[in-house]
Amino acid sequence: MTPLLATLLLGLGAPRPAVVDVHVHTEPARYALALDVLASNGVSRFVNLSGGAPGHGLEETVQAAANHDGRIVVCANPEWRKVRLGDFGDDQARMLAVAKDAGARCVKISKALGLGVPDPDAGPDALLRVDDPRLDPLFAAAGRLGMPVFWHVADPKAFFEPATPSNERWAELQVHPDWSFADPRYPRFDDLLAAWERVLSRHPATTFIGVHFGNCAEDVDRVDRMLREHPNLYVDVAARLPEIGRHDPEKVRAMFIRHQDRILFGTDFGLHDGLMLGSVGNEQPRLPDVDLFYANHWRWFEARDRRIPHPTPIQGDWRIDAIGLPPEVLAKIYAGNALKLLWNENGPGALDRAALEQAPGPAELHSPY
Ligand SMILES: [Zn+2]
Repeated sequence: MTPLLATLLLGLGAPRPAVVDVHVHTEPARYALALDVLASNGVSRFVNLSGGAPGHGLEETVQAAANHDGRIVVCANPEWRKVRLGDFGDDQARMLAVAKDAGARCVKISKALGLGVPDPDAGPDALLRVDDPRLDPLFAAAGRLGMPVFWHVADPKAFFEPATPSNERWAELQVHPDWSFADPRYPRFDDLLAAWERVLSRHPATTFIGVHFGNCAEDVDRVDRMLREHPNLYVDVAARLPEIGRHDPEKVRAMFIRHQDRILFGTDFGLHDGLMLGSVGNEQPRLPDVDLFYANHWRWFEARDRRIPHPTPIQGDWRIDAIGLPPEVLAKIYAGNALKLLWNENGPGALDRAALEQAPGPAELHSPY
């Protein structure tokens, strides 16, 4: 670690480099506000996963990002509406090349693949499979082009259980009935994850980022195993501290230290007409709520407290245990890994630059952790 970073991390008050949030959804008209709100919480850069496709908003999204000192990286999204094309995979591989030329640096696949995108060839109600070989050209192109693939597969396990008052995510399912995948017409959780892992194996030269803690925050052992077996896999923690924090904190801490080079900080912060803070409930969050949202993240990563509130109350009425990671591990998870992977900035010099970007002390104002 460099002296500057060490000073920042070990100094009293703000033990944190400028953080990168790799999991944000927003749009050009809100970039300035998003950067302001995040900077006041110590987050200096973000990845906008909602870039769209060339000819459908991507160019505008990337150009607007270019006006902000390289603080925003944009992911392109596949055009599922073209799935009926005979050469869909090749078409989307070409789309990615155009997206990269336009300035996109990554790809985001949503849970719609597996849970909503139709497969017209397989029948009127059939869904396109997560590991459908027709998609291989897209993933191969992402590898060739050096564009990491953020991928949301399945959803919390509870969403595959009956949506009844005894479901632990009942509060959220009542607000979003369409998030229930209990109906047997949907694939089962384990089948979706198994199909996803087959794609990870088929494309070892492509970098994948399993969002929402490898899409399996309920099972730390499985995420641990997936990271061991797939060297091309990274994970972000977006919207899953409520789940990750329920496990034995010593076990989680050891796992985060083991995989410190392949875990990325992200939140599912969203800013469109309204705000999203990891999820959306009945009540629209307000800007001051963002401070508590991030403060709860810092506390979980940096303190060793037990039974603390989690950042996304609608996900469940329980408390979590913090894991208090060492500063050098936090520096990688908060910023270093993202700078390498998405900004192509390597080494401690990049972290120094990230630390310098941070306005003096905003993190102190919002959180003692
Ligand atoms: Zn998201």
